[in-house]
Amino acid sequence: HLVKLLEQKAQIDDITGLWNRRYFNQRLIQEISEAKRYSRPLSLVLCDIDRFKRLNDRFGHPFGDFVLETVARRLSGGRTSDIACRYGGEEFGLILSSTNIQQGHEVAERLRVAIESIVWPGKPDLVVTASFGICETQSVGQEATPETMIEIADSALYKAKQSGRNRVESTCKKNKIKPV
Ligand code: GH3
Ligand code: MG
Ligand code: MG
Repeated sequence: HLVKLLEQKAQIDDITGLWNRRYFNQRLIQEISEAKRYSRPLSLVLCDIDRFKRLNDRFGHPFGDFVLETVARRLSGGRTSDIACRYGGEEFGLILSSTNIQQGHEVAERLRVAIESIVWPGKPDLVVTASFGICETQSVGQEATPETMIEIADSALYKAKQSGRNRVESTCKKNKIKPV
């Protein structure tokens, strides 16, 4: 029982209670290979809180941690089949199985609105936002691997940051996989 408990603990992020990156990477391998085998869509969403450093600087690290916790709760409040993880720092990943790019976009947009709508205790004027990047297996095709999926979602996220933050972006493979 104790071993099992420790195994579980090793897969969970302390601050947010979400899956950690190690677990996420394992699941991503499994889920992508199943999606390909059964010709099902799969969307990968990366989410990064906007201007989080400034937030920490203004309100302190404990409040920053509270923001991470609260945002994480929104991100994990969807379908039970969705896999939400803390990818690192103020970045989160979501694996949405059987979800095409359009549905993935809708999910991310709903989360974006949910985050910007959070009313922060004692800080009535504070608005916390996040940016999102999405990648979907079927639009990548046979080249869809955990590495390419993360790379493409990350470049979509970068685009969201560049074009003003607090938005959802997706990119297709053509213009995003860099030639080796
Ligand atoms: P951008 O909109 O471009 O994403 O800007 P940003 O400030 O969110 O991004 P940046 O990468 O500059 O800063 C991330 C900050 O996240 C810096 C780091 O101190 C903070 N951070 C990382 N992990 C934790 C944590 O566990 N708790 C708290 N409170 N802050 C954290
Ligand atoms: Mg970041
Ligand atoms: Mg950030």
